Amino acid sequence: MTTFSQKLANPSPPSLKPRHECGVCGIFNHADSSRLAYFGLYALQHRGQESAGIVTSSGERVLIHKDMGLVSEVFSEETLTSLEGHISIGHVRYSTTGASNIINTQPLMITHKGITLAVAHNGNLVNSIALRNRLEEEGSIFQTTMDSEVVLHLLARAANGSFEEALTSAFREIKGAFSMLMMTKDTMVAIRDPNGFRPLCLGKINNGGYIVASETCALDLVEAQYLRDVAPGELLICRGDELKSIYPWEKQKTSFCIFENVYFARPDSDIFGINVYETRKRMGQILAQECPMEGDFVMPFPDSGNYAAIGYSQESGIPLEFGVIRNHYVGRTFIQPTQSMRDFNVRVKLNPVRSFLEGKRVIIIEDSIIRGTTGKSRVQSLRNAGAAEVHMMVSCPPTRHPCYYGIDFPSREELVAYRNEVDQIAQYLGLDSLYYLSLEGMVRATGMTVDDFCLACFNADYPVEPDLSFHKNALDKSG
Ligand code: SF4
Repeated sequence: MTTFSQKLANPSPPSLKPRHECGVCGIFNHADSSRLAYFGLYALQHRGQESAGIVTSSGERVLIHKDMGLVSEVFSEETLTSLEGHISIGHVRYSTTGASNIINTQPLMITHKGITLAVAHNGNLVNSIALRNRLEEEGSIFQTTMDSEVVLHLLARAANGSFEEALTSAFREIKGAFSMLMMTKDTMVAIRDPNGFRPLCLGKINNGGYIVASETCALDLVEAQYLRDVAPGELLICRGDELKSIYPWEKQKTSFCIFENVYFARPDSDIFGINVYETRKRMGQILAQECPMEGDFVMPFPDSGNYAAIGYSQESGIPLEFGVIRNHYVGRTFIQPTQSMRDFNVRVKLNPVRSFLEGKRVIIIEDSIIRGTTGKSRVQSLRNAGAAEVHMMVSCPPTRHPCYYGIDFPSREELVAYRNEVDQIAQYLGLDSLYYLSLEGMVRATGMTVDDFCLACFNADYPVEPDLSFHKNALDKSG
């Protein structure tokens, strides 16, 4: 079965925050693998909301179902029942809207010389254009505009030796950020780039099978036991009863994406060996030490900043309150009012508690400021509700540089902190004051060191050289 309906999901509203570009979940050796992969993807929905897909294998037949939409919209009881097999890999993706993106949903699957290969990728390859140009000159015909397809073509080219040799040879050519799952009829492979930009963890399912997923929250939902992270630079091959690791690259300095800890990952996940909830709370505590402020209460704009706000409140002794209430039932699109209504798009999601805010000195805790446009309207809505003073504390440093490793950061020019100093940003947002956590403070909250992380969107120190000459024409990022 190959189901691939050509419908377009409702377009998402413009990006308010940096967005993930994908989550992956693979199940090996479980009779109900597609259902478990579905649950894993369900837990990883925050990493991509525009499309979802699962490829499954029974050892004889490889089946795929993917479409635009949320995991719960793409799969039904019927489709999951039809995806029979003991191996599955699944993918959730964020992509820009547009008809062409139905082509770019994942997992990607090809059949070459009778071998079926599927891939699901989280991250971004920095040398994909150069590789694609070379492969096209050598005769490869691409089905999509995704960088992940380059991997499939490289593997198909290297298929003369053993599967392990083909994997080693193909992956040595690839540069960038990739936490990836691959599948053949009888094998699942988990691959993490040598810098380890994106997380990837391995767990054991209670029947003896295995799960590999972007975050540990996916393991929790299927009651799998966390075993370990797939190591940076590891290719983990699951075949028969065996797990085999190979390391095709020379050992490199790790470059974990610190933004996973600041904002992207779910707070109930452990990322890079540390719990996200506790890390964000510590960021708030250190922020309170670095930037003491007088105020009547501390508040987040739910849910950004929730955990840093708890930390700031506990450290400073200033009470934590919810000055705005979130409507949890706002869909991805909603019908707009026919006449102009002040702050409508802000209030439909977050409504200020007017009687509570009246005359108060408010300290907002935010996890990040990217473009600043959302923050500006939110601050204005607090002023309109009668707040006397509005201060903002951000639990990371100013985000001044784009990400080339799989996160949808706007271009440099769109980043409010690239073109403005902190006092100018405060003025733009309509704040009485604005403070950011220091880079040292942010790293200290993780309990690790600056050498463990990629910090490029804060300090422009890019661990893997992005190919900027190609970047303007870059392929669609896979996820
Ligand atoms: S540039 Fe920023 S968002 Fe991108 S990988 Fe590095 S820390 Fe993460």
